[in-house]
Amino acid sequence: MTISRELPAPAAALENARTGQRSLSVVIPILNEARGIETLVERLRQALEKIGRPFEVIFIDDGSIDATLALLKRIHGADPRFKAVSFSRNFGKEIAVAAGLKYASGDGVVIMDGDMQHPPAVIAEFVAKWDEGYEIVYGQRRDRHTDPAMQRVFSRVFYRVFQKLSGTELPDGAGDFRLLDRKAVDALNTIGERSRFNKGLYAWIGFKTVGVPFDVAPRLDGHSRWQPRRLLRFALDGLASFTTLPLRVWSYLGLVVSAFAFFYAVVFTVKTLLWGVDLPGFPTLIVSVMFFAGVQLISLGVMGEYLGRVYEEVKGRPLFIVGERVGVALPQAEPAKHCACGEPRSPIP
Ligand code: UDP
Ligand code: MG
Repeated sequence: MTISRELPAPAAALENARTGQRSLSVVIPILNEARGIETLVERLRQALEKIGRPFEVIFIDDGSIDATLALLKRIHGADPRFKAVSFSRNFGKEIAVAAGLKYASGDGVVIMDGDMQHPPAVIAEFVAKWDEGYEIVYGQRRDRHTDPAMQRVFSRVFYRVFQKLSGTELPDGAGDFRLLDRKAVDALNTIGERSRFNKGLYAWIGFKTVGVPFDVAPRLDGHSRWQPRRLLRFALDGLASFTTLPLRVWSYLGLVVSAFAFFYAVVFTVKTLLWGVDLPGFPTLIVSVMFFAGVQLISLGVMGEYLGRVYEEVKGRPLFIVGERVGVALPQAEPAKHCACGEPRSPIP
């Protein structure tokens, strides 16, 4: 389903009049992509210069162990509009994106992958929609043929379950490739969660949203970093951070089981009073003992999952550790807990 709310014409016109030279930041999480990075920079430069706005590109080097950082420094030397923040180790793509949003200073921020699966030419279409007044413009994948079949099935099931349980609607085929208006970026920057499920957060913050269809290109080089185990972890994190239903379901189950036990006790008493005691029933006993032991362990496990997450959040460690900054100023002071969304900040030089 596409989330899009049409703007009334006058509002759109007003936005257009104001849009003259809004600046763009492009945030790119990157992990060991040294071989493709120069091609990416070239294509980005072309695409962004064609758009004709002041821009900066911030690579978030997520603990690469190849020549990525050295290349990024060289690229920055040749063109200071290309900048980088390098993590002290690998923190994961979701956190890299969160860091990019903190460092970006543009009026609009584009998030894209660094493996050329997100074609830079689509950014112009995003900007056109942004100028119409939309605050979030997301790239909508036309199809998922570049993903393995298993992964496609898994993601379809996951999205169904996620929507049912969390009540947060995720637009179909929407990923990280998107443009966020400053208001949305500020809103996301107020979110301090450690286990981040960005797709859910984009939907959760709201704002006028529209999709732009695009074709996912094949990976320029290397292979996807997602392994089944990581994907499962990611899916669990996503669910746990958007719904507490798995916690509550045990109370309902407990109620049903207790009612059943009570009913059975009555039947049993009456039966004993009328016909006396008969002993058979051992298998029933064993099966029910084992069944309920299992149920209890599962419920404990679910509580453990949530408790672990609470512990992670409560420790309050920083979301990421920066090893090096290349041409990027420290982020502005942590935004207040309320969202001062869309407040003016210094222009990109
Ligand atoms: N990436 C990252 N940190 C990670 C894994 C991936 O910054 O721990 C980057 C990666 O370099 C790429 C983007 O995130 O630019 C998307 O990664 P990938 O292509 O592996 O994911 P997929 O396209 O399969 O979703
Ligand atoms: Mg990819």
